[in-house]
Amino acid sequence: MRYKRISDEVIRKLREIVGEDNLILGRERMLDYSHDEFSLDWLRHLPEAVVKPKNTREISEILKLANKENFPVTPRGGGTGLVGGCVPIFGGIVLSLERMNRILEIDKENMMAVVEPGVTLMDFYQEVETSGLFFPPHPGDESAYIGGLIATNAGGARAVKYGVMRDFVKGLEVVLPDGRILQLRGKLIKNCSGYSILHLMIGSEGTLGIISKAVILLMPPPQNLRTLLIPYESLHNAIKTVPQIISSGIRPIAVEFIQNDVIPFSEKLLGKEWPCKKGEASLMIIIDGPTEDEVDRISELIADLCSANDAIDVLVADDKGKQADLLAIRSNFYEGLKPNLIEILDLTVPPSQIVNHIDRVCQISEEYGVWLPVYGHAADGNIHTHIMKLKKEKDRFRRLEEKEWRRKYPVIRKLLHEDCIERGGVISGEHGIGVVKKEYMSMIFDDAYLELLKRIKRTFDPNNILNPGKVFDL
Ligand SMILES: Cc1cc2nc3c(=O)[nH]c(=O)nc-3n(C[C@H](O)[C@H](O)[C@H](O)COP(=O)(O)OP(=O)(O)OC[C@H]3O[C@@H](n4cnc5c(N)ncnc54)[C@H](O)[C@@H]3O)c2cc1C
Repeated sequence: MRYKRISDEVIRKLREIVGEDNLILGRERMLDYSHDEFSLDWLRHLPEAVVKPKNTREISEILKLANKENFPVTPRGGGTGLVGGCVPIFGGIVLSLERMNRILEIDKENMMAVVEPGVTLMDFYQEVETSGLFFPPHPGDESAYIGGLIATNAGGARAVKYGVMRDFVKGLEVVLPDGRILQLRGKLIKNCSGYSILHLMIGSEGTLGIISKAVILLMPPPQNLRTLLIPYESLHNAIKTVPQIISSGIRPIAVEFIQNDVIPFSEKLLGKEWPCKKGEASLMIIIDGPTEDEVDRISELIADLCSANDAIDVLVADDKGKQADLLAIRSNFYEGLKPNLIEILDLTVPPSQIVNHIDRVCQISEEYGVWLPVYGHAADGNIHTHIMKLKKEKDRFRRLEEKEWRRKYPVIRKLLHEDCIERGGVISGEHGIGVVKKEYMSMIFDDAYLELLKRIKRTFDPNNILNPGKVFDL
């Protein structure tokens, strides 16, 4: 790929568009924009400049300039991605959406919000809650931006009941790579008017256009929340219970499975205690219902199913404090493991295959002497296997030599992906492809499909200036 280095003249024009204060130059100041949450150093690239537009018009002018001067543009949200999607691997500029952070409207009548792409998930939750409504998707890192969440079609724990970002994006404003601005409808529940470019944009990882505004569907908040914590002697039995719960007609808000080994890392980080670490694994199930009686009934049904699958106990957290503590510990598993983490995967298999895939994960862990802890969204088949720099030896962990984990990591990674695909799974259920998963695209898609993807990209972005090198290579 041949791009021009950014000249002094281009810098002058960028400064004119966004203003002196919103153009960052210089190695030190740009370091924060050279990576996302993916851990390895090879996926760190400094941009030549960072620009922070304030509105759609500025984004459009920047993209027009990029086409004319042939430099790459990498959109960046909160930088919480796990696959290098916002890393400027060919240099050029990082276009950070951080200044476009306004919630423009909460429309209670239509139950929709209109937001700019740089609104953080945390701010969005707060504002929506204040207005008495509820935004269901809950990806784990609340510093992610709405634009990034849409661009990756993020999921999270509550997808089992409510769906993923795609199910909540009703309208978009998008700046195309050539600078034209598209309005992709708005506050509509139904829309059958031709091909859906809206849905093509969702999950396109910043390669087809820059999201500059979004219309997001909201819901009434769930009532009578209750969290059940169910420890099991074996991970196998814990996972086996989940399809039985779903096929019995119960639709929990979340069904998380947890290998208990990961809990102390998060407890230590937060100084909080998980109420029961008995056994090898746990299910954490969040339910709701119109009345307390109905929630009692659902809890009993779940407890019966769990007991029939050899659960050790069924613990109930029915006050907000206990529920919040459990959720906090669960949400910090990643942070607890991070100092020794190489990569977190988000392989997704049909729910009935989770047990088999996890059995294979345990086998690979044993065979290669690398700890591969798992947890994830059990009801939607989405498994977060962590490839660690640790080996588990009885009740302690030993750090592997760098040479050893670097040698084993690609082999283990490939075996895990192969197993997932053999079971009818996909290489990403929620994090996206970015840079790090490109190599596996040809394992799930045939040539005809990949060629179609490439043609779509060329139609939107003939000069390949928008986030090049992501999802697939042209
Ligand atoms: C602790 C932790 C927990 C996580 N849990 C989950 C989870 O449960 N579920 C889940 O799905 N993900 C999860 N993630 C991954 C991550 O948070 C999501 O992928 C999130 O959607 C990324 O949003 P971001 O704003 O940080 O995007 P970034 O990382 O900045 O960018 C991600 C991609 O979106 C593109 N992009 C960003 N903004 C725009 C825009 N306005 N227009 C066009 N393209 C844009 C970028 O170019 C890049 O390709 C987790 C990450 C962490 C660190």
